[in-house]
Amino acid sequence: MDRAQLTELAAELVRIPSVNPLEGPVGDGRGEAAVARFVESRLREAGVECELKETQEGRPSVVARVRGESDEAVWFDAHTDTVSAEGMEFEPFAARVDEDELYGRGAADDKGSLAAMMGALMEVAKGESRPEATVILTASADEEYRMRGLLEILDSGMRARAAVVGEPTGLEVIIAHKGVARFKVATKGTSAHSSRPEDGVNAIYHMGRLLAALEAYAKGGVGRDAHPLLGKGTLSVGVIRGGEYVNVVPDRCEIDVDRRLLPGEEARVAVNAVRTYLSSAVEGGMGTELIGPDLVVPGLDVRADHELVQAVSAAVKEVTGRAPLSGMTGATHAGQLMKAGIPAVVLGPGATGQAHTAAEELDLNELEQAAAIYERLMRSGCR
Ligand SMILES: [Zn+2]
Repeated sequence: MDRAQLTELAAELVRIPSVNPLEGPVGDGRGEAAVARFVESRLREAGVECELKETQEGRPSVVARVRGESDEAVWFDAHTDTVSAEGMEFEPFAARVDEDELYGRGAADDKGSLAAMMGALMEVAKGESRPEATVILTASADEEYRMRGLLEILDSGMRARAAVVGEPTGLEVIIAHKGVARFKVATKGTSAHSSRPEDGVNAIYHMGRLLAALEAYAKGGVGRDAHPLLGKGTLSVGVIRGGEYVNVVPDRCEIDVDRRLLPGEEARVAVNAVRTYLSSAVEGGMGTELIGPDLVVPGLDVRADHELVQAVSAAVKEVTGRAPLSGMTGATHAGQLMKAGIPAVVLGPGATGQAHTAAEELDLNELEQAAAIYERLMRSGCR
């Protein structure tokens, strides 16, 4: 598929708004569903076998397959959803192309990767010889929130020998990334009329003490020794809720905590360490409760000498002349695949720093190169 066709394919994907609705309602046939139908119809036209998996209503993922010579499979994955388009510096779904860039929400994260994988798979499907192993392409819903699209596909039992996850990495080969555990901390007090605060116990004041302790705990990183590519784990408090009326002493306050894990670090152990720390660091004998974690994404760590890393590096080098191996902080589907026993790396067009920004853009040279790299890997079965 040539550069003009790939650019048009990526632009068409950007023109279909697919902001992740979180837990909110999904309009019929819109959002991720509209992207899924588009992906399905394009791939079918090219003779690729496709099915929609929809265990979450209105939010299907696509599973596409090109049969290979062997029974083994290699798995390529990109996601269909985007983060919010509010506050962007230009019309987010116009998909404007200017010289070597495509602008829009999702251009880099993740529709560039999705377009490059689709283009590569269509080339493989029309080739005269079958690929070495069966090639699976998933266009998954809900990556930006709870990764339910990919998790549902994994739950259905799908497995592969190796996987490549498309995310904007500037064509660097990502062999390690952090995981994440999200949990809540709640303080409980006793409500009273604010004209007699001494009759109550103020849950917000107690949370203030906990927050100061957590800030000290998080300083300089937390948990295990630093990883060579990722540094230390981190902890950040992102949301606070507490109190109903100014004239009532609040009986509850709650925070949302984001703990970034090193690969192999157990979420439960990390959360327990916070619990232990808080119980010794903060006095007051007041009710403190840790809730969760309600979201856990495992980290990724693949050896540099692993067959998959070697194959991906070789393909990247053939196309771009260089193939740096690196790590990144953000969590991806690769951590979930790895946890399910499937070695995975992350590789895709678009600069890492472009994801979720107000001026998201995709470098079209990288788009074209990514499609060439994916095609080589699909044909060789990532060997
Ligand atoms: Zn992404």
